[in-house]
Amino acid sequence: MSYTAETRRRRTFAIISHPDAGKTTLTEKLLLFSGAIQIAGAVKGRKASRHATSDWMEIEKQRGISVASSVMQMSYREHVVNLLDTPGHKDFSEDTYRVLTAVDSALMVIDAANGVEAQTRRLIEVCRQRDTPIITFVNKMDREVREPLDILDEVERELGMPCVPMTWPVGQGKSFGGIINLRTQTMTVFEAGSERRPQDFEAIPLSDADTLRARFGSAFDEALESMELAVGASPAWDHEAFLAGKQTPVFFGSGVNNFGVMEVLDALVDLAPSPRPRISRLTVNRQTTETEVKPEDTGFAGVVFKVQANMDANHRDRIAFVRVASGRYTPGMKLKVQRTAKELRPTSVVTFMSQRREAVEEAYAGDIIGFTTHGGVQLGDTITDGSNLQFTGLPFFAPEMFMTVVLKNPLRTKQLQQGLAQLGEEGAIQVFKPDTGGNMLLGAVGQLQFEVVQHRLKAEYDCDVRLESCQYTGARWITADSAADLKAFTDAYPMRLAHDAADTLAYLCTSPYDVRLAQERFPKIHFHPLREHA
Ligand code: GDP
Repeated sequence: MSYTAETRRRRTFAIISHPDAGKTTLTEKLLLFSGAIQIAGAVKGRKASRHATSDWMEIEKQRGISVASSVMQMSYREHVVNLLDTPGHKDFSEDTYRVLTAVDSALMVIDAANGVEAQTRRLIEVCRQRDTPIITFVNKMDREVREPLDILDEVERELGMPCVPMTWPVGQGKSFGGIINLRTQTMTVFEAGSERRPQDFEAIPLSDADTLRARFGSAFDEALESMELAVGASPAWDHEAFLAGKQTPVFFGSGVNNFGVMEVLDALVDLAPSPRPRISRLTVNRQTTETEVKPEDTGFAGVVFKVQANMDANHRDRIAFVRVASGRYTPGMKLKVQRTAKELRPTSVVTFMSQRREAVEEAYAGDIIGFTTHGGVQLGDTITDGSNLQFTGLPFFAPEMFMTVVLKNPLRTKQLQQGLAQLGEEGAIQVFKPDTGGNMLLGAVGQLQFEVVQHRLKAEYDCDVRLESCQYTGARWITADSAADLKAFTDAYPMRLAHDAADTLAYLCTSPYDVRLAQERFPKIHFHPLREHA
């Protein structure tokens, strides 16, 4: 098959939701119906640790298990579907943002009783910024839930884009009768139970209204009425608008009952986009070259969007998750890391087949492959088979909380430095080295990150550390158009400067006013709340 055909049959999407909306259940059913797994319950194992608390064991479990299950590949209807899970805990939201840079679309799961919840709202914002197409699944229709019109209304408001219903529920809770498929004009009849396969559900054409009325009574007429209202209020389906992130198709169902799930799987194949071109922006000697890299380009290129330490503490290796952007990966291929211009020699290269890791035979744009290495790769790195490219867009957010690291046993200084460097490269935490020396600073977006890092320093690097609060409450990455401007600034604030894991200069602040005052004093300095790549 040609590169073009290979990339066209790929779909890479993230599944997003608020905890408990039914993401795990839906993931499992998608795998089940695509044939990727044989029995239900296989994905459930990771569920126990979903609500990460500050319990160390829980964190460990979450971290370990997520290596195995955060990326899943399945084939369905001649397509290769890559599903990326997003971490549930809000303190790990940075991780989630990065996962969203590696996908071409998102599947949003909503609990029909709760509507759009806090965690989903944050994820939506990121999708919106990137114009990521979103497919919406309204779950748990077998429960007493809100009116479908009411839910659509809320989704529209929260997403800031119109909903286009693809299926429509008849009744809900105890009187949930099934869903009407608007395209085929048939009603699929609901039956509870998790054994049923999609083809086992009875389907009745809408034209057979007498039968439907006789079986579902007033619920059927009410559904027709509300469906008409919904259709009247929403724009016509426009595939281009969906691809541009300007409308979302909406499906109703009940994941736990295998109901309405096949429609979603089909939508992923029929509606969701195949891999799209990515922009490389490479700066050499202050000269920036912008290149559009197409999925079907023959040179291999990919970007590291996640780095994860090995679950096995005896092996210091790490897996770099790479989203392939173009070309074809084959085993033994010579690879280069753009940032260092060094050759990357992974000890193994794997693909993620639902529950297993397997050696990659080949991978194309859209696929996610994992490089096991002993170092040399960082988040945001671009890996190619030789060409000079640097993909952009992997976000690092300025930390909102800081702690100073104090080592209890000074003889472990070297190990601490190594540990912090690696955790920093993984993006588990941001590490800042003050320009004037002294203790390292840790910057985080969520409190839990500190706890994880303290725990991992002990478990993996045998470094007992104390974390002490410090005066900083924020940071901005600093750039300037001229070296003279930069020097004037750094001379003025020597005590406030630090370098992060990617050796980027940052200004540390103690209050939001700090930045404003510094900005007023040095109008030619750029203060960035977001750093794009390593
Ligand atoms: P996650 O936290 O989003 O991954 O949610 P889970 O998939 O673990 O589901 C949370 C809970 O909701 C579990 O107890 C599921 O069994 C239940 N659940 C999931 N889908 C449905 C559904 O369609 N109907 C009902 N009644 N419960 C569901």
